[in-house]
Amino acid sequence: MSDDCIFCSIVAGDIPARVVAETDDALAFLDANPMARGHTLVIPKAHHQRVADLSREESRAVFDLVHDLAPRIEDAVDADAHTIGVNDGPDAGQEVPHAHVHVIPRFDGDGGGP
Ligand code: ADP
Repeated sequence: MSDDCIFCSIVAGDIPARVVAETDDALAFLDANPMARGHTLVIPKAHHQRVADLSREESRAVFDLVHDLAPRIEDAVDADAHTIGVNDGPDAGQEVPHAHVHVIPRFDGDGGGP
């Protein structure tokens, strides 16, 4: 846990989030500024900035949750596909320094990627 990390505060329950799924090591919640309906973030519960900082177990937990959730989100919002991605480091556009996977529903004819 990092004291000044907004995603650690969500994990701790100190700030609200619309949680959609949770496992021992990973949490999924709706993005506060969604790029599409159902835009979900999947994070490790432990604080790590970069994907390569996660242990194998944490990495598996995060990507297993992405794997399980993507089709459920697709069904829930009637999407046709997903963009699944990580901004891995500040120079890649990572704004929140707690590793997270964007799961962004895509719709036929929505006009291009993020
Ligand atoms: P970018 O903002 O360029 O996409 P990131 O890849 O770091 O950079 O994404 C951070 C994401 O976290 C953004 O999509 C943002 O909307 C989301 N976000 C920030 N604060 C919160 C919050 N409190 N609850 C849910 N989502 C949040």
